[in-house]
Amino acid sequence: MIKYKKNAASRGGKERILADILFLGTCAADFSPRLLTDCRDRFDNDARRASCALVNGRYLIDCGPHCPDSLRIAGIDPGCITDIFLTHLHADHFVKESVEYVASSHPVRLWVRSDATLPRIGNVEVMRMDSFERYGAGEDFFVTGLPANHDPDAFPQHLLIEADGKKIFYGMDGGWLLNKTYARLWNTHLDLCVLDGTCGDYEGDYRMGEHNSIPMIRLMLPSLRTVGAIDGHTLIFISHLAPSLHKPHAETVRICEKDGIHVASDGLRLSL
Ligand SMILES: [Zn+2]
Ligand SMILES: [Zn+2]
Repeated sequence: MIKYKKNAASRGGKERILADILFLGTCAADFSPRLLTDCRDRFDNDARRASCALVNGRYLIDCGPHCPDSLRIAGIDPGCITDIFLTHLHADHFVKESVEYVASSHPVRLWVRSDATLPRIGNVEVMRMDSFERYGAGEDFFVTGLPANHDPDAFPQHLLIEADGKKIFYGMDGGWLLNKTYARLWNTHLDLCVLDGTCGDYEGDYRMGEHNSIPMIRLMLPSLRTVGAIDGHTLIFISHLAPSLHKPHAETVRICEKDGIHVASDGLRLSL
């Protein structure tokens, strides 16, 4: 059983928790039919919902088909969400109706790669992100979009998030790391590194140019350590798991534990 440390900082005599992330969905696009039956109103480690996460209670990463259900189950009021950052436009990460749901009662900023084409959505202001530019989206919250090795027609970008002084790399979706993205991560000493873990613990999958497998991540981590992108304090997570390509969650946790890799699950909240 992995324990996640809760870290509190003292500022102005007032103690508060630093950046936190709530995984609202950790699946690739092969969803379990159980989402429509016994898992309709709860999170289940083996019936994952579409990839989605919430940082600091108000910054949503991706907004796919299950986002409204995930928010409801997690007890999150969509009215608290001020910004949505899209990693790309594949249908498991972006659904117009889900964004409409989040923005139904208040204005929301939707951050996308600068060249992405989006439909018009009420209450939504589209914010265009040039790669490698650092954008401030709130007090002590900055996001940089980095090019991703994924379907170019979906305008993919990885996200480098700086929240309350903590650094988070959210690399969904993408296989390996592109040259300049890798270079940008040198010496960042990430607090949290969330990698695409679509494929399971086997070699030879054809998706190498768009998604990672566990053996690929095993190869990547020592190099990331060598260049100071991660170090001994970095929490390493995989998300975007395809159930059809992985063992059940509990077994995947065991497989990954010996390499220091944690496996994200729906409803998991980390305080950094
Ligand atoms: Zn995806
Ligand atoms: Zn994708």
